[in-house]
Amino acid sequence: MADPFAVTNQAPPLRGVNFFTRDAALGDALRPYADLSGDLGLAKIGELAGSEEALAHALPANQHPPVLRTHDRYGHRIDEVEFHPSWHWLMEQAVGFGLQAAPWTSDRPAPHLTRAAGFYVWSQVEPGHGCPISMTYAAVPALRADEQLAKEWVPQLASTLYDVRRLPAAAKNGVLAGMGMTEKQGGSDVRANLTTATPTGSDGEYQLNGHKWFCSAPQVDVFLVLAQAPEGLSCFVVPRVLADGNRNAFALQRLKDKLGNRSNASSEVEFHNTIGYRLGEEGAGVRTIIDMVAATRLDCVLGSAALQRRALVEAVWHTRHRSAFGGLLADKPTMQNVLADLALESEAATALGMRLAAAVDSAVQGDAKAAAFRRIALPLAKFWVCKRTPFMVAEALECLGGNGFVEESGMPLLFRESPLNSIWEGSGNVNALDVLRALRRPESLEAWLTELAACQGADQRLDAAVNDVLQALADIEGAEAGARRLAARMAVCLQASLLIRHSTPEVADAFIASRLANDWGGVFGTLPRTTPFQLILDRAIG
Ligand SMILES: Cc1cc2nc3c(=O)[nH]c(=O)nc-3n(C[C@H](O)[C@H](O)[C@H](O)COP(=O)(O)OP(=O)(O)OC[C@H]3O[C@@H](n4cnc5c(N)ncnc54)[C@H](O)[C@@H]3O)c2cc1C
Repeated sequence: MADPFAVTNQAPPLRGVNFFTRDAALGDALRPYADLSGDLGLAKIGELAGSEEALAHALPANQHPPVLRTHDRYGHRIDEVEFHPSWHWLMEQAVGFGLQAAPWTSDRPAPHLTRAAGFYVWSQVEPGHGCPISMTYAAVPALRADEQLAKEWVPQLASTLYDVRRLPAAAKNGVLAGMGMTEKQGGSDVRANLTTATPTGSDGEYQLNGHKWFCSAPQVDVFLVLAQAPEGLSCFVVPRVLADGNRNAFALQRLKDKLGNRSNASSEVEFHNTIGYRLGEEGAGVRTIIDMVAATRLDCVLGSAALQRRALVEAVWHTRHRSAFGGLLADKPTMQNVLADLALESEAATALGMRLAAAVDSAVQGDAKAAAFRRIALPLAKFWVCKRTPFMVAEALECLGGNGFVEESGMPLLFRESPLNSIWEGSGNVNALDVLRALRRPESLEAWLTELAACQGADQRLDAAVNDVLQALADIEGAEAGARRLAARMAVCLQASLLIRHSTPEVADAFIASRLANDWGGVFGTLPRTTPFQLILDRAIG
């Protein structure tokens, strides 16, 4: 008789998988733009990301969420947030890898693509700390609207040293950035902002009064904040500590009790005569901060692709080690269909994310066509990849059965995080509507078509889907109600085109057969029976 207390048939923890070198889909997604296969920096990030040490920090950082300390023991306002040591460890690694603003000052080739790959790989360890890393990356293009402010902040934001001391920026080894746009009465519609900005008489200096309903990572050093100046909504650089060493007024009211993203602090804050420095013209607030939003939207795509990838790897790993009904789960045809379908979704998300990052590199170099492509592809990708992620992660979680529902598996952490990238930085509808806005510029549609033309004739099903999109576009005026359908179709066509050109024929064919040429209901595991599941799955943990 078998010992009824013996622990058997439990999958071992996923450890020792290099998250960079063993990600074949990532390698294929990067190769067309830069040969990063031998990049030692990325291999190092991948090795640490898959290590026992790194993965052991994810749960504690989330199980011990940040704590707000509004006052010191004597009653002075301090407005500080205390974090678990695991949070600081994660942040220190991410900053050290240069995943924040370092690419903006780097002279290496393809710095944004390389950083995107690193961010995607490292975010698989723990997603919450990606928020301040991402906002620090994104602040730089907006800060460049003002030469003096950029000179003051960019070198510090690009530093690879993690320095949490509450000091003036000039006295620190490195700084981090956040953003404050959303108010109680309006988030998507920032024109409804009520916070005021009054010139102090000193050049470019204002006093801000009002609040922000969401302000994540309030512990960081500097924020880009929207407020109403005399000439309209404007953007301001708000430091936590002023140059003279005094704390700027930054009254943290509460930390949000969130569904997920629990390692990260998201606060409500009030400004009482808070000092801010105008960035860009008065009245040009949205135009100025949109450069920051564009960069954080890219990270929403990359962060969602990372969640999908980690969920996929966990699902494949588990089913390769767990048996039921006389065989490994990974060998059961129904499970193979589910896993292969998850792999397709993950691979398509990764391919689109890296394509966008490559467009950033080209656009930064002054390539107008790359900028036009990014303008249309970014809201498409933000809408679609982020929207697919909760479904994808939920299905991957189910592959672990009951174990997937238990915190120790790490899957609930991924699942709780999975809706977030679709909400912040422009929720689903807002991004779908932004696609319509982009389409009003002829160069945007042309950029999308040019990308699709690269594989025109390669697959009739894709050609037909592109034609469908063009027909839908014939009636773009008043098309708001159809914005999501259009955005989804355009995004899937883009993904299909990337997979045809840069992945294996099996992956591209199965993706198109299910997503474009079928009565696809979006449920995973409904690939045609003839799909070569194993060939697709062999790539999953290559
Ligand atoms: C964890 C977390 C952290 C955050 N951190 C920050 C931060 O650091 N800084 C910051 O500024 N904000 C932050 N936010 C706020 C976030 O960016 C907003 O919540 C988001 O932009 C949506 O704004 P809202 O909440 O006001 O929703 P609303 O604007 O009220 O939107 C509600 C719903 O209506 C939809 N909608 C809006 N307009 C239209 C339209 N015209 N047509 C159809 N549908 C529409 C939206 O898509 C959404 O689904 C954070 C949010 C979360 C959840």
